[in-house]
Amino acid sequence: MTEHGHFINGKAVTGVSGRFGDVFNPTTGERQSVVALASTAETQAAVDVAERAFSEWAHVNPQRRARVMFKFKELVEKDMENLARMISSEHGKTLPDARGDIQRGLEVVEFACGIPHLQKGEYTEAAGPGIDVYSLRQPLGVCAGITPFNFPAMIPMWMFAISIACGNTFINKPSEKDPSCPLRLAELMMEAGAPEGVLNVVNGDKESVDALIQDPRVKAISFVGSSDIAQYIYAEGAKYNTRVQAFGGAKNHLIILPDADMDNAVNQLIGSAYGSAGERCMATPVAVPVGEGTAETLIELLRPKVEGLRIGPSNSEDSDLGPVVSAAHRDRIKSYIQMAIDEGQTPIVDGRDFTLQGYENGFFIGGTLLDHASPEHKSYQDEIFGPVLQIARARDFEEAVALPSKHQYGNGVAVFTRNGAAAREFAQKVNVGMVGVNVPIPVPVAYHTFGGWKRSGFGDVNQHGTEGVRFWTKIKTVTQRWPEDVQGSEFVIPTMG
Ligand code: NAD
Repeated sequence: MTEHGHFINGKAVTGVSGRFGDVFNPTTGERQSVVALASTAETQAAVDVAERAFSEWAHVNPQRRARVMFKFKELVEKDMENLARMISSEHGKTLPDARGDIQRGLEVVEFACGIPHLQKGEYTEAAGPGIDVYSLRQPLGVCAGITPFNFPAMIPMWMFAISIACGNTFINKPSEKDPSCPLRLAELMMEAGAPEGVLNVVNGDKESVDALIQDPRVKAISFVGSSDIAQYIYAEGAKYNTRVQAFGGAKNHLIILPDADMDNAVNQLIGSAYGSAGERCMATPVAVPVGEGTAETLIELLRPKVEGLRIGPSNSEDSDLGPVVSAAHRDRIKSYIQMAIDEGQTPIVDGRDFTLQGYENGFFIGGTLLDHASPEHKSYQDEIFGPVLQIARARDFEEAVALPSKHQYGNGVAVFTRNGAAAREFAQKVNVGMVGVNVPIPVPVAYHTFGGWKRSGFGDVNQHGTEGVRFWTKIKTVTQRWPEDVQGSEFVIPTMG
């Protein structure tokens, strides 16, 4: 049985804690490998290494740091198929979707290639007599990223590409469910020319996460995962004076106004609700048809498409979606479907009995469509994170804005309409961090920033774009006077007035 260890100081390292997690192939249901779960001491050893590496990497000029990123991008592109197979076999997402996961991460690497420009400070000449003011964006030191199972390529790259380009050294603590891709990315960073210790991977669970938060040498932590853990990490970070951004769960709504192009809306909705078996934080598990009759039209168009979803092995190019990540997760999704029915929702398509011939032990669940979800229902308030679409009907535009705005999560939302004024008003009013207009999954491009509101995001600074550069650097402002000859002492606060 393959045993995944860690990647520390430029090489693969065997875990010594004696604790392991199981890594499954969700398509077959087989345990395919185990992953070492690091102890506190092993995690601290990785911080030692990263701290040593920082003393040199921080002084490598930005253009050279950018060159490592250019080379890394090239190597990841060459290794795309290998990485996609790793992701698909451990996560269960289809191969084309796994390639998308890598590609979206690479776009942040491309952004990080611009670091010489992005990390420049500002300069004010002659702010006072002989006085100039300038600011520096300096790296923080050892940084860490704690990443979820559902984007094992994109989310580590969101974090380490910008952090390392800024001159930090990095420890990625990936999900224990799919460790292969993050380990391979670290190997490729070394091949790209990153010095030993600049990117390390420590596999583990709560023990290693706590060790990272509590270590005063770790200066910043980026977390992406479920909301309760995001909140825990944010609170712990405050306790230990560690900079933290923590992104949590989601329950995104896709609003369909009565004037929308229904065929287009349904085509977009089916992909965003069921793609990746619904295991995306930007999936759209709630459809909101607005006004008389819109729901009936929507259901008529949706039902055959949900029944016709091609659910298959994750390594097939022909599957629309594969299995979900684990047996426990599949069972949890099924229990939420039952909960929704008990709460009074109408099952239009019930995927609980789905099995895939030849893969009876795989973690499959069929596409499910439920009508009449409402804010009093726990199954509507909670994130289900599976191929389950709930319809929450809205009487009018105001109710359509209120549903996502009042929901506990505020990651993404989409509105489908032909009316530009309505779309504009919706985008301005809705209390959600990322909005799509006729775009079902509005994940911003790498040079804009990603971040949800309410229980989808704890902290003030978003992922990637210039916000990423802000998060992974500290600003220093220098006020200097040349020539230095000042007449007499000044006892009053200096002003430039
Ligand atoms: P998770 O919260 O179970 O795990 C995320 C990370 O936290 C993993 O590295 C895991 O090992 C670690 N972890 C787990 N339990 C911990 C504990 N008690 N203490 C400290 N660390 C712990 O999330 P997941 O199941 O891997 O990922 C799915 C979740 O992530 C969903 O809620 C999804 O919406 C969310 N997500 C959010 C975004 C976003 O940007 N907002 C993006 C992707 C996924």
